Amino acid sequence: MHIAKKLARVNPSATLAMSQKSAQLRAAGADIIDLSVGQPDFKTPEPIAAAAIAAISSGKTSYYTAASGLPELRKAIAADIKAKKGYDYAPDQIVVTNGAKFALYAIFTAILDPGDGVLLPQPGWVSYTEQVRIAGGVPQEVPASDGFKVTVDDLDAVATKNTKAIVINSPQNPSGTVYTRQELTLIANWAVRKGILIIADEIYSDLVYNGTDYVSMLQLDPQISANTVLVSGVSKSYAMTGWRIGYAAAPKKLASALSTIISHATGNAAAVSQYAAIEAYTGDQQPVEDMRQAFEKRLNTFYPLVKAIPGFKLVEKPQGAFYIFANVRDAVNALGYDSVDTFVAALLDETGVALVPGRAFGMPDYVRLSYAKGMDDLVEAAKRITDFVNTSN
Ligand code: PMP
Ligand code: GLU
Repeated sequence: MHIAKKLARVNPSATLAMSQKSAQLRAAGADIIDLSVGQPDFKTPEPIAAAAIAAISSGKTSYYTAASGLPELRKAIAADIKAKKGYDYAPDQIVVTNGAKFALYAIFTAILDPGDGVLLPQPGWVSYTEQVRIAGGVPQEVPASDGFKVTVDDLDAVATKNTKAIVINSPQNPSGTVYTRQELTLIANWAVRKGILIIADEIYSDLVYNGTDYVSMLQLDPQISANTVLVSGVSKSYAMTGWRIGYAAAPKKLASALSTIISHATGNAAAVSQYAAIEAYTGDQQPVEDMRQAFEKRLNTFYPLVKAIPGFKLVEKPQGAFYIFANVRDAVNALGYDSVDTFVAALLDETGVALVPGRAFGMPDYVRLSYAKGMDDLVEAAKRITDFVNTSN
């Protein structure tokens, strides 16, 4: 069986692999606290579920929709962007996809010829690198010099004449860092000057905490917005990861290329999920704020507990998303493990706490802890990790 050479270096998703492993252990009877995969533990709000049920009952699900999504949904997404980020998209600039994940994949497919590069700030979400490879491009990983953020100097050191795009993810997975207006402006102006497309992954933009001032890439300058494709979706804000609805909002030429790819690759995202997403964007937004507040409380409780774990170093308090990214090199060395990966595996075996090794996000000395879990689980997980580190010493 021949498998394409470009796949030789592509690894399966470490986040999904870890959550699958935890699910298997739990099914076998183990007492697992899964802080690996990033998915809200809340139920999808009732009115959204009801809209989906109504769509099924009224037979709205037996047809294909437009490949890029129902016009009503695209209109609702455009209105949401306008309300939250102040930027006007025509509905035909919105392309609905099977999760934001497929929006990103379609973008890389649309813009990359073989050998073209995409700048990927590190740390960064696990799938960017592999998606760029699958699309035949070259991931150009950029180590961050300012905490978890990259600067123009960092980008200049890695960009080449083949660089076609940069991914800026704010709030960021895995660190929860949020770029300021000034930081974004410097990076965005640099990209515009170089003719590099900005891929703004803002899937966590509703989840910002403790008064942090969030600024979207679309709120800077019209020239920057015209050079940007926004990626987002309902997974995180509305507790809808399983429904698989994301989108790209793009300049017309790119939106049209994305539509073409989708028309051949997946066809429309599931109709029932699209009806649910219309309700998500147009219905009562209070559940989004309630969940945001719950995440904020968890962060404020869990962060000091993680900070107090011997050998865990925290660079900065996260400002958004629902992850803590901790440098655990000292703990790993003190316990005599040969890598963070073996430390994480032993932690799971012995305590039932599942984390994701930082290698998946380009920083091998780190682990990612998701706090999209109930408070009791978070407190118990911190205790188990602390006991593990102390008793193994
Ligand atoms: N971008 C980032 C930064 C993410 O963490 C995720 C996590 N799932 C996605 C995109 C994709 O989300 P989804 O496909 O569920 O919309
Ligand atoms: N984005 C989430 C995470 O980082 C979901 C899993 C995935 O798609 O990677 O855990």
